[in-house]
Amino acid sequence: MAKRDYYEVLGVSKTADEKEIKSAFRKLAKMYHPDINKDKDAPEKFKEVQEAYEVLSDPNKRKTYDQFGHAAFENNAGGQGYGGFGGFSSSFGFDDIDLSDILSGVFGSGFGFSSSSSRGNRARKGNDVLYKMDLSFMEAVYGCTKDLTIDVYETCSECKGKGGHKQATCQRCHGSGTVTEESRTMFGSFMSKTTCPECNGSGVTYKEVCSNCKGTGRVRKRKTLSVTIPAGVDTGNQIRLKEKGEAGINGGPSGDLYVEFNVREHEIFKREGNDIYMTIPINIIEATLGCKKEVPLMKESIILNIPEGTQNGEKHKIKGKGVPYLNSSKVGDLYIVINVVIPTKLDKKQKELFKELGKTNLDDNDDFINRFKKFFRK
Ligand SMILES: [Zn+2]
Ligand SMILES: [Zn+2]
Repeated sequence: MAKRDYYEVLGVSKTADEKEIKSAFRKLAKMYHPDINKDKDAPEKFKEVQEAYEVLSDPNKRKTYDQFGHAAFENNAGGQGYGGFGGFSSSFGFDDIDLSDILSGVFGSGFGFSSSSSRGNRARKGNDVLYKMDLSFMEAVYGCTKDLTIDVYETCSECKGKGGHKQATCQRCHGSGTVTEESRTMFGSFMSKTTCPECNGSGVTYKEVCSNCKGTGRVRKRKTLSVTIPAGVDTGNQIRLKEKGEAGINGGPSGDLYVEFNVREHEIFKREGNDIYMTIPINIIEATLGCKKEVPLMKESIILNIPEGTQNGEKHKIKGKGVPYLNSSKVGDLYIVINVVIPTKLDKKQKELFKELGKTNLDDNDDFINRFKKFFRK
C-alpha cells in the first residue's frame, strides 16, 4: 500500500501551524483509538495518524519531510534496513494502555508514547540517539558514505538481554506472569490481576545475575556504523537509521539513530537551495572587448563565452550543474556571476594608455552615460 501524505492523513494544509496540527491529531486520535473504535481498520488508521503527527509536530522532522517526503525516513542506504516512522509505539500493544494514559503522554510531551512507557517494568523501546555529522560542501552535493562512531547501550551478549543465567520458573506466579491481588475496601474485597512483580510478567527468573551487564541486560558499547548519505542534503536535514540507537529494555525494540547534517561552506561555491553561485573576476579589458574564460565548475570545467560590453554583476546560468534534489532526478542550476575588477596598481605606461583612451571621448558612445550627462547639464 502506498504511504499517504502526512498532511493528507491529518487533513491539514501544508502551511498548517502547530496548533492546527495538534488539534487535527487530537480529533483523529480519539476517532480511531482502538479502545473506542472497534473497526478492524482502526488500529492501522490510528498508527498512521500517530506517525503523521510524530513527524509534523516536530519542526526538524517536518522540515525534512517537506523536503524529502517519506523517503527521508526510509533511507535504505548502507543496507541498514531502515523503515518508516512509528516504531515508538510498537513496544506495547494497545490493550496495554488506557486512553487517558495515551492522551496525557502524547499531548503532554508532544513527542509520542515514550513518556508513558517510562514507568513500570514492561518492555520499553531504547532511547533514540541524535548524531550530528559535519559534511564538506562537495560531500553534501554529491552524497557519500561515511563512518560514524557512537557510544550506546547494546543488548548484553552474555545473557542475550535477559540479565541473568540459569533460568527457572518464577516461584511467585508459577510461570503465568500474572498474580491475583486482593484488595479490601469498605465496599468489600476486590480481586485484581496484575503483572507479576517478581518476573515482570515473563514467568521466569534467573538464579544468577549476569556479571557482564549486572542484570540490566544492556552494556555500553562503542560501535561504528557506515552511513550512506544521499546527494543533495543540506544543513539541518536528518536521516533516520531504524533501531540503530540504544538497545531496548526488557526485550523492547532498539531506539533509532538520527543523523543530522551540518554542511561546511565552500571557498568558491555558495549554495542557495539547489542552486549554486560562483563569482569569477575579469578585468575591464575582458569585460569591454569580450573574452573566453575557462571556469572550473564542480566536477568539470567549461569555456564561458563572455560577450563584448559585459557589465559587473551579470549572471550566466549553467543549467543542471547545481545540487540534485533529493529523491528526484531534478538538479538545480549553477550561476556564474561576473565581477569586473577595476585595476588599482597601474604602471606608468598603462596609465598613459588609459589617458589616451580617455581623450577619445569614450563616453560619447554610451547611451547610459549620456542620459546622465544631459540630466546634469540642465
Ligand atoms: Zn512471576
Ligand atoms: Zn548480561
